[in-house]
Amino acid sequence: MRIFIYNGTLITPTRSLTGYSLIIEDGKISALVPDGEAEPQPLDRIIDAAGMYVTAGLIDMHIHGCAGADTMDASPETLPAMSSFLAAHGVTAFLPTTISSPAKALTSAMAAYRAARQSCQGARPLGLHLEGPYLNPLYTGAQPVSWLRKPDPVEYEAWLASGDVRVITLAPELDGALELIRVAAQFGIRTAAGHSDATYERALQAFDNGLSIAVHTFNGMAPLHHRRPGLVGAALSDDRIYTELIADGVHLHPAVLRLAVKAKGVERTLLMTDAMRATGLPDGEYDLGGQNIQVKGGVALTSTGNLAGSTLTLDAAVRNAMQFCELSFAEVVRMATLTPAQALGIEAQKGQLLPGADADVVLWDGNFSVQRTLVGGQTVFVRK
Ligand SMILES: [Zn+2]
Repeated sequence: MRIFIYNGTLITPTRSLTGYSLIIEDGKISALVPDGEAEPQPLDRIIDAAGMYVTAGLIDMHIHGCAGADTMDASPETLPAMSSFLAAHGVTAFLPTTISSPAKALTSAMAAYRAARQSCQGARPLGLHLEGPYLNPLYTGAQPVSWLRKPDPVEYEAWLASGDVRVITLAPELDGALELIRVAAQFGIRTAAGHSDATYERALQAFDNGLSIAVHTFNGMAPLHHRRPGLVGAALSDDRIYTELIADGVHLHPAVLRLAVKAKGVERTLLMTDAMRATGLPDGEYDLGGQNIQVKGGVALTSTGNLAGSTLTLDAAVRNAMQFCELSFAEVVRMATLTPAQALGIEAQKGQLLPGADADVVLWDGNFSVQRTLVGGQTVFVRK
């Protein structure tokens, strides 16, 4: 069955096209055609996108949990719960993200991931993002300090070989970190710098060894100093690096978000959420990595007052970034679609409306609210 999505504005996102239809066949985008060049056939399914924007599905490459579920719960319900919630926010692919924990807990989370990844009805999990445990205790944030350690090949080689890991966040200044960066690259796994006190020079060394992402840039690292640029200065000034930014208005002052996007461009800026399990739920007490977290006014804090992830959704991040950065919808959407796809090396399949790509598609109304989400050509969410 072919699906025709017509009447909308297609944002590819490198181009904005009006008067075009998007045609989907067998779960893939088959064509973008100007009106009048291809007519729907009687058996085609027709979706009228009048007054709507049509974009590729959002990709959240850093999300611990949402809707009451957390990647570390390692239960069969965790991933499906996250997957369905995310689809309602325009997310069609995500990297469930772990937190620094004992080896046993991480191994359980990986086993649960493997068992459940095929049973997701909404957004598709693309592999795990291991945030830690090889992080610097000086910048723990909400990472449990007792489980931080130095990279240990005996421990991490099994993880790298599992085929379930896509990204590893580490502190590049730790002994053995550069070796981990090189070994991960051999497995096609991206490495990211975060929860780190790396100097500018050490950060560049990590980049030279293949590290390509800065994790929640500015958060969990030494502040930018004009004589000691550190990891922030290295990430912002080096064009090889993709910078994750949390656009919730809490983790970063809007002016800092704007500054970072000006430095990196939408081609190297990744919007992500760092969301934790309270996302989509009311304020209250929640758990993160075995710690008690208080959520008040949507802000999640540890008992010592550190930010403990966010309660941000990626569609809200898109709306916030438009406002904070004074950028167009198309420019901001790119930071949550094509740019993360490129950071992961999957831009031929995901992140763009392109013939041959997976039919992961989102319809947004004129207020940039998600109205419909398709994953692999199947509608997985419609706003009632
Ligand atoms: Zn973090």
